[in-house]
Amino acid sequence: MTSMTQTQPAAESPAADFPASPGNIALAERSVPRYTSYPTAPHFGPAVNGATYRDWLGRLADDTSLSLYLHVPFCQTMCSYCGCHTKVTRKVEPIEAYRRHLEAEIDLVSGLTAARRVRHIHWGGGTPSMLGPAGLESVARRLAARFDIGADAEHAIELDPRQVDDGLAATLVRMGVNRASLGVQDLNPHVQEAIGRIQPHEVVVAAVAALQRAGIGQLSFDLMYGLPHQSLEDLLRTIDQVAALKPGRLSLFGYAHVPWFKTHQRLIDEAALPDAAERFRQANAARDALIAHGYEAIGLDHFALPSDSMAIMAREQTLKRNFQGYTTDDAEALLAFGASAIGRLPQGFVQNAPDIGGYQRSIDAGEPATVRGLALSLDDKVRGDAIERLMCDFSADLEAVARRHGVPQDFFDADLARLQPLEHEGLVSRKARTVVVSDAGKPLVRVVASLFDAHLAKAGRHSAAV
Ligand code: SF4
Repeated sequence: MTSMTQTQPAAESPAADFPASPGNIALAERSVPRYTSYPTAPHFGPAVNGATYRDWLGRLADDTSLSLYLHVPFCQTMCSYCGCHTKVTRKVEPIEAYRRHLEAEIDLVSGLTAARRVRHIHWGGGTPSMLGPAGLESVARRLAARFDIGADAEHAIELDPRQVDDGLAATLVRMGVNRASLGVQDLNPHVQEAIGRIQPHEVVVAAVAALQRAGIGQLSFDLMYGLPHQSLEDLLRTIDQVAALKPGRLSLFGYAHVPWFKTHQRLIDEAALPDAAERFRQANAARDALIAHGYEAIGLDHFALPSDSMAIMAREQTLKRNFQGYTTDDAEALLAFGASAIGRLPQGFVQNAPDIGGYQRSIDAGEPATVRGLALSLDDKVRGDAIERLMCDFSADLEAVARRHGVPQDFFDADLARLQPLEHEGLVSRKARTVVVSDAGKPLVRVVASLFDAHLAKAGRHSAAV
């Protein structure tokens, strides 16, 4: 639905558009992850399975704070730029069957753990509202019956503005939803035509009005640059129109063209895609425009009004990073429901079967649908902490990181030595064991983070840093 979901590869942070000067071409060409987790999903393997998940769930203390993620992998039509894990369907039965399995999975998983305290719920996809108002409410009722959802819990959902009306908005309020994330991308008709997603400005305005009338005032918009036939003027016009609606948060991703991986992207006219220099101009101009509209830049690709909790956490250097990108969600465990969904427990990551059939067969058998994952070592936890701080704060006090995990102060010294070429280029500076990414180095923060990644050598194919 949005430009960033748990399993979406086809969106890039502005880092992807760093202009390669002669001194840093080699850096810019490095293939590095986006670090929405560490270790990253390509390192997950079958050693972690349903039995592991059962064991890990059973070890959660009853006061563990929880975040819940629900994945709905259906859409009404396929947008040609899409990189999400979703499929097009207009039939009711597969969606109904999927809803029943989500509820059965909620019963199953909640029965395997004593942890109940929910601080955060996020619905992603796909298009979660494909479950229909009755289906959404039914799943939400099941969550409320099995978990203790705090009165101040954040309950967020990704929405397609084309499907939002007063009826859906009222349903969302009854479910307890208090934050909505709308996929906007670009508001120019010729760009919408080129990406196979016709969603006029009036439709977005009407969706926002319906949500606000119902009482859902916390809004996030997802925007994209680097789209086919999208000029700099188109992008800036979209930003002006969107800023007038005053969402508290915005994300801005560059379209990543990966037709070998997402075959429907072959519908996109490659000749109409902006080149690297134009993408760089777009990313920079969009950032400047959003800042001029009063937004604070958060990490690589998010923006928030100064009063928004995300901006506050960014200023306090307590922001987190998860599979949705930058987040205020600091729960101790993430339980994920639905096909392909990725959960995170203190012991490690678990991922459900990506195919709906395989997912549903496991649930029918009364087994967790986990097919792969990764058990975190102490080394993973320490490095993951350092990488998260770099990605969120553009700096990391490595001695503080080492202290938090009870490892020696010199834990990162070998990694620090590898920073020297970046220091030489003026991309990072270092004081004792604190690393600070310079303004010039910010677009390359993924490269900086990768120097602390002990798994990278074994990695699969990632997006290039540029
Ligand atoms: S609405 Fe479009 S972009 Fe969003 S998940 Fe569906 S097909 Fe992909």
